[in-house]
Amino acid sequence: MAIDRTRQRWQGWGPIDAPDPLGDRAGAWEYLAQALGATSFATTPALPFEAAMLPPPLEEADLARLSAVVGGDRVLTDSFHRACRARGKSYPDLHLLRSGDAMTAPGAVVLPNSTDEIVAILQQAEGAGLAVIPFGGGTSVVGGATGGGTRSIALDLTRMDRLLDLNETDRTATFEAGIDGPALEAALHARGFTLGHAPQSFLYSTLGGWIAASGSGQQSGIYGRAADWFVRAELATPRGVWRTESFPANAAGPWLGRLVVGGEGVFGVIANATVRIRPTPETRDYRGYVLPSFSAGAEAIRNVVQAGVPAMLRLSDEDETKFLSGFSTFGRRPSLRRRLGEAYLHARGFSRNFCLLIAGFEGEGREVVRVRRAAETEIRRAGGLALGRSVGDRWYERRFHGPDLRDPLLDRGVGVDTLETATRWSNLQRLYEAVRGALAASIAAGSPGRGVVMTHVSHSYPEGASLYFTFLFLRRPGEEIAQWRAIKTAASAAIMDAGGAITHHHGVGVDHLPWMMREKGPIGVEILRAIRKTVDAKGVLNPGKLIP
Ligand SMILES: Cc1cc2nc3c(=O)[nH]c(=O)nc-3n(C[C@H](O)[C@H](O)[C@H](O)COP(=O)(O)OP(=O)(O)OC[C@H]3O[C@@H](n4cnc5c(N)ncnc54)[C@H](O)[C@@H]3O)c2cc1C
Repeated sequence: MAIDRTRQRWQGWGPIDAPDPLGDRAGAWEYLAQALGATSFATTPALPFEAAMLPPPLEEADLARLSAVVGGDRVLTDSFHRACRARGKSYPDLHLLRSGDAMTAPGAVVLPNSTDEIVAILQQAEGAGLAVIPFGGGTSVVGGATGGGTRSIALDLTRMDRLLDLNETDRTATFEAGIDGPALEAALHARGFTLGHAPQSFLYSTLGGWIAASGSGQQSGIYGRAADWFVRAELATPRGVWRTESFPANAAGPWLGRLVVGGEGVFGVIANATVRIRPTPETRDYRGYVLPSFSAGAEAIRNVVQAGVPAMLRLSDEDETKFLSGFSTFGRRPSLRRRLGEAYLHARGFSRNFCLLIAGFEGEGREVVRVRRAAETEIRRAGGLALGRSVGDRWYERRFHGPDLRDPLLDRGVGVDTLETATRWSNLQRLYEAVRGALAASIAAGSPGRGVVMTHVSHSYPEGASLYFTFLFLRRPGEEIAQWRAIKTAASAAIMDAGGAITHHHGVGVDHLPWMMREKGPIGVEILRAIRKTVDAKGVLNPGKLIP
């Protein structure tokens, strides 16, 4: 069942009828006011859909060309469906849509059913000079899904959501690219398998988007990131169909399939893809630990990963640990269990500054026990203390719900955004301090109050790890975009200066475009341009994204 846009917030996150998770939480607002240095919160609701400004739809002649390919019922021009594909879910996307600015809405939304239809649409678009924006779940947080106004079409892949093949011998599955997370996993579970890719946007994002944006699921330490589980794809380009290699390995020059992962729709539209699958885990074991410091926690993770132990390891820094624990409990009478827990921590020397580590282990029962013990040896060696399963279970239950807080915060004048990077272990602390410092200073310089800056390590590799920053700030009414841009630019410059990747899993879109020349170098950018020219000489596909 494809994502039903009429049931989703067109300018926010989640179902239209989702309850406000902060509605009756006066204590949480009090805590936030203290943390941000706010005396009160503004009332800044989103404008209703009726107030949205859109560009006109495509002209009749262009619509007739597209309808000739897919039929009139799969070319949508009504304001609602176009507004839903005007932008993705980044901070500026949400702010502009909430303010009624849907001027990037495409001239039409086209819903293809097959690779051949996509090729024909691309060729029609090329002839008519239209831009084509491949659109999966539209959850991009870097402007990757932003439309191009009247002379663009959103190519919405979500009707293409079938399981085409499941090969138990090869442990692979082939899906059409528009299938969303829950549907993909349900189809695999029914046959005893999983892909295990669960980004925080899992409920509303698609396989094609995961591959195109080179994403990482929360359990990438167990199941790998998109680049690890991707096997092959069939892409539609204005030149025709491009099928990438499907061998388990080969030495016939560079592996061209790698261009599909992170291609962001610029090198072709992924119509279907084959992925590596694994048996559904017999056991899931999630646990909490505390570490005396962020650097001690990072050291433990490095040792676990370098020992080849497959685990999800998510380490919050002191500020994130403190904020998350305060935010969830402030204004509530601490339960007996919580008070006992705090007393225990205190007695073991963890009274003020410490870091929470959530570790997850999945797989066959005995193997999970072996892997957990191996990880715990390193955690203990770094001075860590086990908190048990309830903390881990709670994290697992809530693993897709953090983003539910964004809309209520924006409704009360509070900005919230995230960014991520990656570096080698030997540079992790330097990058961490540089980005935190840049975020705190740019928020202080351009916001009415203090900022809250929190960090966690969420994806790790033998040679390094990613850092994920969440920051909250009081918005400057009327100047929200300029305020955000100053913060984003300061953080991005700090990332580059301190030797970090401009993005670890969000992708490039338009927001990271200014940094691509520095990231790839002039020859690297020329190579990307040459590939685009080969598959799409007129630049129909996602113009203005990925390649400077
Ligand atoms: C709250 C929230 C949490 C998130 N958490 C994570 C996370 O944990 N991990 C993570 O990796 N990302 C995360 N993201 C970012 C985003 O969800 C991912 O980039 C996701 O992979 C995008 O999938 P999508 O289907 O929504 O793609 P879209 O947003 O529709 O598109 C993303 C890009 O891919 C292109 N594209 C889409 N489909 C195709 C296709 N079939 N062929 C070619 N190009 C295509 C688009 O043109 C665009 O450039 C999060 C986003 C939000 C809003």
